[in-house]
Amino acid sequence: MKYGRTFNFSAGPAMMPEPVLEEIKEELLNYRGSGMCVMEMSHRSPEFQQIYDEAVQDLRDLMNIPENYKVLFIQGGATLQFSMIPMNLMKNGKAVYIETGAWSKKAIAEAKKVGEVTVISSKDKNYTYIPNCSDLDIPEDADYVYICENETIHGSTWQKLPNTKGKILVADQSSMFLSKPCKVSDYGLIYAGVQKNVGPAGMVVVIIREDLIRDDLEDLPVYMQYKTHADAGSMYNTPNCWAIYCCGKVFKYLKSIGGLEAINKRNEEKAKVLYDFLDRSEMFGGTVEKDIRSLMNVPFVTASPELDAQVVKATKTAGYDNLKGHKSVGGLRASIYNAMPKEGVEALVDFLKKFEEEHK
Ligand SMILES: *Cc1c(COP(=O)(O)O)cnc(C)c1O
Repeated sequence: MKYGRTFNFSAGPAMMPEPVLEEIKEELLNYRGSGMCVMEMSHRSPEFQQIYDEAVQDLRDLMNIPENYKVLFIQGGATLQFSMIPMNLMKNGKAVYIETGAWSKKAIAEAKKVGEVTVISSKDKNYTYIPNCSDLDIPEDADYVYICENETIHGSTWQKLPNTKGKILVADQSSMFLSKPCKVSDYGLIYAGVQKNVGPAGMVVVIIREDLIRDDLEDLPVYMQYKTHADAGSMYNTPNCWAIYCCGKVFKYLKSIGGLEAINKRNEEKAKVLYDFLDRSEMFGGTVEKDIRSLMNVPFVTASPELDAQVVKATKTAGYDNLKGHKSVGGLRASIYNAMPKEGVEALVDFLKKFEEEHK
């Protein structure tokens, strides 16, 4: 690859589109004649306000976000949302959480500190499937239903959203954000830590339906209220200016290549290369049920942890980075987000094929 870059299969922070990095490099020392880097710029300056406004508008365009939803950029990553969501949305103190992997499990632990949580889980089979949620037993007074739409560690994706029976749907889209078209009106709140599929770490995008932003939460720390961020246009305090700038560039880049339909097509083609190989291989195999396989995170294993370790080592030597699987699943994991080129996946598959040949 150009600049001696590697195909980086990290689960996050992860690869950025190369044209975006080049643009950032170009503007680094003097942003469009301002005489300064965006890092050095006041968040109250007209230059930065324009960067912010365009980022919000481009995201709205990309996702077709309806008028009655607010876009917020909040610090604290996706993890802070595990707490903010129950603190702000649990009016009756009750919610339903679907536990499909490590990230929904973490969210559940935080929600339980705030209210009563009904859990529907696929833990019994180490999260290799997604529970059937077409006819859930949802308490009448539940405030919302929560899912992690793509489980980064276990490699599963919801193909069909749960039937919430009219309750608000809340989704953690961190590891699939902007990877495919999304009908925002199906959700009350969508959030995504940006370092998986969009930009630098340390920021979360929250897309929230306006009527869910409450003004009766004075006792909640001010920073934990969505209202604070909504009223201040995400600038109650100094925002993560750098992340907003970089994410804005990625939004423009996605628009330029044809939007979410186009990137989804690329993602499907790219993931197919790897899954087709895994389905044919006698050495490697996927870890979750086929119909829920993620297009973004692909965990796979050999028959033994020793061989897994040997493969990981060999991939690293060959210039493919960060393929070691998460400890809870073991084996390997290839994270192939939007910015991973198809050539990266093809090269990896060629390498794995060769490895299999040589270690029969
Ligand atoms: C990475 C990840 C998180 C945590 O993100 P942070 O920004 O590190 O807090 C939460 N949910 C999912 C699905 C993730 O992949």
